[in-house]
Amino acid sequence: MTRTCVAIWEADAASAIAVAREAIALGAECLEFRFDAMPLLPDDLTPFEQLEVRRIATLREREQGGEWEGTNEKKWEFLWRAAKSGFDIDLELGHPLVHRVHLLRPAKVIVSYHDHKKTPQIARIIESLVECAARSDMAKAAFSVRTMHDLAQLVEAAHWFSLSRERYTIIGMGEMGTVTRVLAHRLGSILSYASVSQGKETAPGQLDLETAKWLGKDPLVTGIIGNPLDHTLSPAMHNAAFRAAAVRGIYLKWVTMVDELEDFLDVTEALGIKGFNVTIPHKEPIVPFLDRIDPVAERIGAVNTVVNEDGSLVGRNTDVIGVERTFERYNVDVKGKAALVLGAGGASRSVLSFLIAKGADVDITNRTMGKAESLAKMFGADAVTTRVAEEKQYEVIVNCTPLGMKGFPQEMSISPHVLREGQFVMDTVYNPPVTPLLAEASRKNAVAVNGKDMLIYQALASFEMWTGKAVEYDVMERAFREALP
Ligand code: NAP
Repeated sequence: MTRTCVAIWEADAASAIAVAREAIALGAECLEFRFDAMPLLPDDLTPFEQLEVRRIATLREREQGGEWEGTNEKKWEFLWRAAKSGFDIDLELGHPLVHRVHLLRPAKVIVSYHDHKKTPQIARIIESLVECAARSDMAKAAFSVRTMHDLAQLVEAAHWFSLSRERYTIIGMGEMGTVTRVLAHRLGSILSYASVSQGKETAPGQLDLETAKWLGKDPLVTGIIGNPLDHTLSPAMHNAAFRAAAVRGIYLKWVTMVDELEDFLDVTEALGIKGFNVTIPHKEPIVPFLDRIDPVAERIGAVNTVVNEDGSLVGRNTDVIGVERTFERYNVDVKGKAALVLGAGGASRSVLSFLIAKGADVDITNRTMGKAESLAKMFGADAVTTRVAEEKQYEVIVNCTPLGMKGFPQEMSISPHVLREGQFVMDTVYNPPVTPLLAEASRKNAVAVNGKDMLIYQALASFEMWTGKAVEYDVMERAFREALP
């Protein structure tokens, strides 16, 4: 059974004990005191003996990410006193004192290895764990996880090492490694380290104790794969939804390159990740890797949501639900209406699929006309040049290009002549809330709607697919507003 261990980094014993009491009150099952944070080591350790949970004393050296610079003699003298006062002891692999650790018994000894720069290959990870286990009661190895490949290596190494029946904790440090903390028990880890509160982390990617306790030992894990993911608002929206629905779950961010899709799917299988969103550039490339694609995603040719149904990965598309609910929200019936779609990428596919299914008469235009032509053929729309489109009259216009989005040219891909009173103009862009297209549409008294609703409705639909729970629109809308930069 994995225990939550709060790592305490305080400059003196009194502050450390105060934090320890706070952590115990919040449900910490174990405390790690980082005595290397203290410029003066405490002479008297008896106040620590009053703490009624397991305690670990650590004096980590600089080369393994700590602050300890004293002599080995001083270190031994302190760890000896700590062991006598009921602490378990954490010592770094390769430290000269490791060969003496048996003298600290009956204190339990953790031999640990930290690499703050990288995750090595599987064989080296296992070797580190074997070396740590040789002289300890628990081996601990923590590596900086920077890529999806690193994460996959760590998860696989944990699998192989678990066959040894040794006691161990394996940690992926950094945002990409957070899942190794959330699902520590599935990796076979004895401890999952947490901070007492946000901002008090002693290692990158640590959860705060309140979140760790809320999640419990076996939370539902979801997230998003794509690249880049810097500006995604999905974690904020889904994590708010988990709380609101009282589902013990979390939504994580996994930056994944195209050649790392298989690594991610290995991690999904090994850790039992419940589902995930898929964004640029994986919406189409992921299709051949999945066990099944539902008919909607099949028609669109792109997947934005994957649901793990008892080990079978099912590809779905909730972007199209996002588009549909947006039109419903504004009471727009597109049947028989002339509609223009700007752009021929992933978002255009969902918009076209909806408009055609609902009986609109759809034109599509794009910078690269060949792409507009192939989507037109696929969905039963007409590809037109902007010149032709500008001479026609549309009741519905949907922008599916990134023009107007933060970081992109603040322009429109079509002349303002196409905009007129009474039209329904939707921009899939939501940041900023008013793009040049929407500003111009409002000036012409058209109904101007940005991509916020599409984003929220697709997220609500994905959330329901993973959890079986429907969450109020307002929950995600509030989280969206708070997270919008
Ligand atoms: P995509 O697959 O990369 O397609 C982008 C499209 O925009 C392509 O047709 C591209 O034309 C065109 N384009 C790009 N830069 C252009 C420029 N400078 N001038 C004219 N056209 C340009 O991207 P996507 O996934 O469809 O996303 C497009 C937009 O939709 C993004 O702004 C995204 O934020 C938004 N979106 C919103 C939601 C939501 O829930 N609200 C969901 C998905 C996407 P070429 O074919 O010539 O390259």
